[in-house]
Amino acid sequence: MKIEVWSLGPFETNAYLLTAENGKDCCVVDAPRDAAKTLLPEIKKRGLKLTHILITHGHWDHMCDAHAFATAGAQVLAHKDDQQLIENIKAYRSRYESMMPFLTESDFHSVKVNQWLNQGDSFEAIGLNFEVRHVPGHCPGSLLFYSAQEKCAFVGDAIFKGSVGRTDLPNGNWNELLKSIRTQVYTLPEDTVLLPGHGGKTTVGDEKKSNPYAKP
Ligand SMILES: [Zn+2]
Ligand SMILES: [Zn+2]
Repeated sequence: MKIEVWSLGPFETNAYLLTAENGKDCCVVDAPRDAAKTLLPEIKKRGLKLTHILITHGHWDHMCDAHAFATAGAQVLAHKDDQQLIENIKAYRSRYESMMPFLTESDFHSVKVNQWLNQGDSFEAIGLNFEVRHVPGHCPGSLLFYSAQEKCAFVGDAIFKGSVGRTDLPNGNWNELLKSIRTQVYTLPEDTVLLPGHGGKTTVGDEKKSNPYAKP
C-alpha cells in the first residue's frame, strides 16, 4: 500500500491516506480539521474509491472532519469507549473552546460510527487485513491498527517518536497507557513501523531501545 501523510489543524494532527496496491481503493486514518478539504479533492482527482475512515480515538483533533468523509461514502470505524466524543462532540464544545477560543460552531460535527472495534478484532480495508488492538490510557477508546503484511501500525496518540501521549486530559490514565504500550505496542515485531497521530514515524525496536517515558 501507499501511505501519505498530512499534518493538519491547530495541533498538527496527522491524517494518513492509504491507497491500495491496485490503485483503486483508499482509506483514511484520522480526520483533523481541514482533512476533508485537503484529501477529498485529491481522492477525487485520482479517481479513488474511499472505503473507510478509521478513527484512532475520539479527541476533537482526530475526529473533527470524519463527518465529511462519512458523507463522501466512507464507513466509520472506532472504539465504543469514545462513542460520546465521536457521536456527541457538541457536548464537549466548551472544553475544547477553553483550550482553543478561536473554534466556532462549524468546527463541531458529530459522526455516526458504522462499526465498533474491539481488542482482537480484525477488518479488511483496501485489500489488507488490519488487526485491532485497544490501547487506552491517553483516551479510553484509543485504538491501534496493525497490518502484519505491511509491517506497520497506526498508533494514534498512544506513543510518539521519543515520547508518549499525554495522560492529563479527562479520562487519561498513566498506568493504563504504560500497560497499553508494553502489552500492545512493544509486543509487535521490532521492525514494525509506528505511524503516530502527531510527528514523524518510528519503529517498535527504536522506541523499546530509547523511549525515555515507556521502557519495555
Ligand atoms: Zn489525543
Ligand atoms: Zn492528537
